[in-house]
Amino acid sequence: MKCKATNVPPAGEVDIPALREKYRQQREIRVRPEGQKQYVRPAEEFSESYEADPHTPVKPRDSIFEDLDVAVLGGGWSGLLAGVQLKKAGVANVRNIDHAGDFGGVWYWNRYPGIQCDNDAYCYLPMLEEMGFMPSKKFSDGFEIYDYIRSIADRFGLYEKALFHTLVSGMKWDESIKRWRVKTNRGDEIRARFVVMANGLLNIPKLPGIPGIHEFKGKMFHTARWDYEFTGGSYRSPELSKLADKRVAIIGTGATAIQAVPYLGRFAKQLYVLQRTPSTVDERRNTPTDPEWVKTLKPGWQKERQANFQRATIDTFAPGDQDLICDIWTEINRNLVAEFEAGGWPTSPEEFMARRDVMDYRVMERLRNRVDTIVKDKGTAAALKPWYRFLCKRPCSNDDFYTTFNRPNVKLIDVSATQGVECMTEKGFVANGQEYEIDCMIFASGFEVTSDLDRRWGIDVIEGRDGLSIYKNWSDGYETLHGMMSRGFPNQFFVGFYQGGFNATTTETFNRQGQHIAYIIKEALSRGVKSVEPRQDAQDAWVKHVRETAFDISQFQRECTPSYFNNEGEAQVDSEGGQKLRWYLGESYGPGWDAFQKLMQEWRDKGELEGLILGKD
Ligand code: NDP
Repeated sequence: MKCKATNVPPAGEVDIPALREKYRQQREIRVRPEGQKQYVRPAEEFSESYEADPHTPVKPRDSIFEDLDVAVLGGGWSGLLAGVQLKKAGVANVRNIDHAGDFGGVWYWNRYPGIQCDNDAYCYLPMLEEMGFMPSKKFSDGFEIYDYIRSIADRFGLYEKALFHTLVSGMKWDESIKRWRVKTNRGDEIRARFVVMANGLLNIPKLPGIPGIHEFKGKMFHTARWDYEFTGGSYRSPELSKLADKRVAIIGTGATAIQAVPYLGRFAKQLYVLQRTPSTVDERRNTPTDPEWVKTLKPGWQKERQANFQRATIDTFAPGDQDLICDIWTEINRNLVAEFEAGGWPTSPEEFMARRDVMDYRVMERLRNRVDTIVKDKGTAAALKPWYRFLCKRPCSNDDFYTTFNRPNVKLIDVSATQGVECMTEKGFVANGQEYEIDCMIFASGFEVTSDLDRRWGIDVIEGRDGLSIYKNWSDGYETLHGMMSRGFPNQFFVGFYQGGFNATTTETFNRQGQHIAYIIKEALSRGVKSVEPRQDAQDAWVKHVRETAFDISQFQRECTPSYFNNEGEAQVDSEGGQKLRWYLGESYGPGWDAFQKLMQEWRDKGELEGLILGKD
């Protein structure tokens, strides 16, 4: 069925200058001068509850002392897919090392009620054709994803050597043996020829530093450490029956809270939802997978679908293109195509961007109008409306979030005027000058996505050649070759959002990075090369090229309401007080994903490991 444009207000009915001013005012209200410093590290403040794994008991084991070909730090999507690609390349002596009790990463830790992926599962779950797996619906439940991840790890034999409940505490390059010495909190000393940093993006829960947080005598937990002992129910059956006599508050209204709030509203005696910035919440349309549609799929369909999603979001549709994804992520481009097909395509990129800007305001207006059609109390509806550009925050979809506010036991508390919850007390919290008594405070306050790297990676020491610290080396911005290696850090590889091509499907980004890294490692091992490291001139040329061809989104980011997308709106100043060239979610390759893949393929096809110093002694 052809996916239709949405019913957005006509351009003439949307007062863009007035909206722009309203967005600016809302941003001013929200920006906190302390930026990132408004958050504290849960591990430091609440070490017992945040260091512990609520899902799997920690098993004692002997420490390991060994020589290893590849240590992959992480067992989430990025570590898993690096492991898979290494195995496919024939590199067998690989260990994934992870803090968690299993593979899964975010899908291991996050088991809050209602957890689902907000992205099209037919794109997001990698290797569907190869694995012979089909998700049960458009937006998979968390446990479907977790189970799938484990099945991939199993299929590729990654469990055999995986070390779980193991935190890497330090890693140093030892030039005398041309290996990384990796130490862990389990007393291991691993001498790894290669290390792959697959530490993840959403691994460290973030807590607002609310005054009095330690005074509170009730229960507190972060959504990434959901306590079913306290709430009742379980991950796969979230009947939160123990909340029937409990007064619960949840801080945050981001993608996590949007999914958890309907369950809390249904089961808690009283629920307070503490909101600072509203999310955009569209209808979900989470349709079960149609077996008739599955029968029509031809080999290669998943790559085609991912490419379609890429065009629908980061790139643009071309004439004749059809939106296969058809959800909130693709709405702007889908609507534009419908209008262009009817009235003519833009004749310049400037015209396209101008039309796109207007569609952004129209889509946001539709989403605000949607709130009024569902939420009965007018004050609550007004407070739930988002006033910012699309993609300033992550768009959400959920069919039960807004209706939850029609329940008599649920109250929205808008804490935007005080830029967050004022304080906590022994009995509860204070918002807008009033104290509310509660039994439980749940933090749906997100993750440390853009704080300093050492804080996010949690590894005290990472030293390359001559004791060079990676944290110091990158303190004024990433310096890499292709976003996957860095001068001074031989045999170390990076999977994630650094300096290269990024796909709208995150798992595809990780998968292709894993493939490239596995190629280099395999080549090095088979050629008897003991160390590989970018040449300075090759790295400099890459950094220059990425920056010269970058697509400038700084104005958009500056105008956005604060979030991790723009580092909480924090001023971007470098160590010498100047404008800092810092890209919080990585430096995306301006010419695009396809161009980056072509470049990497050509680089591999040459077979010369161009730009790398190959050390054989
Ligand atoms: P977010 O960072 O998106 O949201 C955190 C929430 O906490 C925001 O609403 C924030 O308000 C609020 N908050 C922070 N400090 C305070 C304070 N002092 N007082 C009141 N409120 C406060 O975290 P999420 O866990 O919701 O989502 C993080 C990411 O996880 C998503 O962006 C997404 O990438 C991923 N995710 C993915 C899902 C998927 O489907 N694939 C599902 C869920 C999450 P404010 O906005 O004002 O800062």
